[in-house]
Amino acid sequence: MKPEPLLAAQKTVLVFGGSFDPVHQGHVAMVQHIAERFAVDEVRIIPAGQPWQKAGLVATAEQRVAMLELAFADTLKVDFIIDQQEIDRAKQQIASYTVETLQNLRQQYAPQTAFILLIGADQFRNLSTWKNWQQLFQLAHIVVAARPGYSLQLDELPGEFVQLWQQGNDDIASFKQCYFGKTWLETGLAWDISATRIRASLQQQGQSKESIALIPRKVLDYLQSHSIYN
Ligand code: ATP
Repeated sequence: MKPEPLLAAQKTVLVFGGSFDPVHQGHVAMVQHIAERFAVDEVRIIPAGQPWQKAGLVATAEQRVAMLELAFADTLKVDFIIDQQEIDRAKQQIASYTVETLQNLRQQYAPQTAFILLIGADQFRNLSTWKNWQQLFQLAHIVVAARPGYSLQLDELPGEFVQLWQQGNDDIASFKQCYFGKTWLETGLAWDISATRIRASLQQQGQSKESIALIPRKVLDYLQSHSIYN
């Protein structure tokens, strides 16, 4: 008989950060897919703060938050929160690091909460350069979504990082049996889509067949009525 897990998580929270300039169908599909596959109880979407010391994002923080609300309101079966902690810190000219964002979240939830940090394969390649990246494995499980054009390239990443990644590789059920440290590469969906390409397409062609297919309808209407990316 399998032993009862000693540390079964009481709640699983999916954490997904990004610029979301704008949020697109790739983001929505990723969150929906992972939320269902890992049976998460809650989703935290965390838009990055507006950079104050370098060329900024195109849409304002308020617009990106509004678009996220529109994109996720009808699509998720579980509670979701657009968490503005990184935007708030940026307004005070405080830099945000994912490790601190996760630490803040840990303080808001019961200790028996499992967090799943969701990132795309492009971000995975940089993960070992993020501030205190080792701690990320002690704060959350890490799920990487495959992305066309980006392989994980484990052989090019630091050994210590690869070891933690491979050590954590386990089945999906194990993500509920502890609160952090498990890892998973999700290959079940791979949208060839980026916000950069969408912005370029909107700037060059306005609302085209492509942008209509890649952006949630309500977000598209919002973009149009606020003349963003024209
Ligand atoms: P940009 O083109 O402006 O850099 P983006 O489309 O990559 O934007 P972000 O807002 O930076 O979107 O992404 C948020 C998170 O979603 C990141 O972890 C990123 O890797 C991931 N992501 C975005 N698009 C995809 C995709 N098509 N497949 C897998 N992951 C993705």
